[in-house]
Amino acid sequence: MNIPATRVLKFGGTSVADYQAQGRSAQLVAQQTESRIVVVSAAAGVTNALVGLSQAIDPEAAENFRTLIRDRQQHFFEALGEPDALKASYWTLLEELDACGPCLGQERDRLLSLGERFSSLFFAERLRQLGLPALQLPARFLIATDSHFGQGEPDVARTRQQVQIALNDHQGEILVTEGFVGADSDGNITTLGRGGSDYSAALLAEAADADWVEIWTDVKGLYTTDPRLVPNAQPLAELSFAQAAELATFGAKVLHPKTLWPAMRRDIPVFIGSTLDASGGTVIRREVSGERRYAALALRKNQTLLKITSPEMLYSYGFLARAFSLLAKHHISVDLVTTSEISIALTLDERGSEQALSLQVLEELKELGSIEVSEGLALVALVGDNLNATPQIAAEVFNALGGINVPLICHGASPHNLCFLVEDKDGPLAIQRLHARLFEQRQAVAA
Ligand code: ADP
Ligand code: ASP
Ligand code: MG
Repeated sequence: MNIPATRVLKFGGTSVADYQAQGRSAQLVAQQTESRIVVVSAAAGVTNALVGLSQAIDPEAAENFRTLIRDRQQHFFEALGEPDALKASYWTLLEELDACGPCLGQERDRLLSLGERFSSLFFAERLRQLGLPALQLPARFLIATDSHFGQGEPDVARTRQQVQIALNDHQGEILVTEGFVGADSDGNITTLGRGGSDYSAALLAEAADADWVEIWTDVKGLYTTDPRLVPNAQPLAELSFAQAAELATFGAKVLHPKTLWPAMRRDIPVFIGSTLDASGGTVIRREVSGERRYAALALRKNQTLLKITSPEMLYSYGFLARAFSLLAKHHISVDLVTTSEISIALTLDERGSEQALSLQVLEELKELGSIEVSEGLALVALVGDNLNATPQIAAEVFNALGGINVPLICHGASPHNLCFLVEDKDGPLAIQRLHARLFEQRQAVAA
């Protein structure tokens, strides 16, 4: 098989939110000449409405969600001129929507995938109306996953096989597919977790041997922190895989946390840009020029702090192994860890866990020692280079926080981050104070 170089372009929810946004995104595809795969998200707000529908016990609430979703899709269908070629597929999707109500597991994943399935149908048509050879190809024929509904784990080898066959069968065409969506080996639709369209784009790029991935969104790249929290935040021209991966993991919503894994495996640069202003953007790649002591700040809300205290830990071995194997048995993912002589403190994020701390888990944990659980916390991460070898870093960071209480600090495991917890309510202020001190004042001094 001789497949030409491939580019993968992904358009997020705001970039396909309505006919106008869809048009801007379609123009960006039209401006590129490489053969490519286009990945689209559901129009902004549609997946939230589908989640609402999947949980709506009250029939009236369910109908309100369906109406909202139907109206959003009807907008595209009418604006595209109600093309005959789309009618059958569009009506089938509407029928599927009408048949859906509260659901879980496999049924829920199928329901949540509807937003992307509508989006890709309309986006492919929009490209064809611009004269491009676009073909809608469902992601269930491309992205192979296990049967872990809600958090499908990709099967990289099978995905590669399917993508290579599709590229070979459709040479010269632009394949338009859904982000966020895959299928298990029985053909059941799965989803990759909220925000998973970025991950889809990177997985497809890996499978297609692409040389470049573009993530098109509503901000001009990765910023020094979330520009919604700090209007003075600045876009970064380039960032290393390692730094960007830390930022995505610790809460920079602009990239799904797993997006960079496939890109790193195949060394594929990832560009992030804005469909509202396509000039500029961030390139994430293995090597970047120069060292950046402080690159960016991230905030992740809804953290749980679990403390296990046991005198048995003193001078003993195997205690940590027992604690972690218990959490692993219950598929609970741990982020930060600190230990003292007789206690261990760790943070949990329900996003990475199959379940929150259930009563059963708590009962089992109590067999290890006394348990303390604190909720309503936020994780703040400072990401940069050589942070573990930076004199004065702790003084600089914690002085900047002023009186904000810090229940846990993690530093030293990675040269690329310093992390700590604050109360959820203090999270935005912590980021604003740190940004002012470490990014704005430093810059002013340097200037
Ligand atoms: P999309 O729908 O295109 O996937 P998302 O809403 O998932 O877009 O991600 C884009 C948002 O990520 C931005 O609007 C911004 O508020 C947020 N964000 C958080 N941290 C950062 C950061 N460091 N740089 C840029 N954007 C960030
Ligand atoms: N539409 C999905 C979500 O809102 C996936 C994505 O947009 O990346 O979570
Ligand atoms: Mg996103």
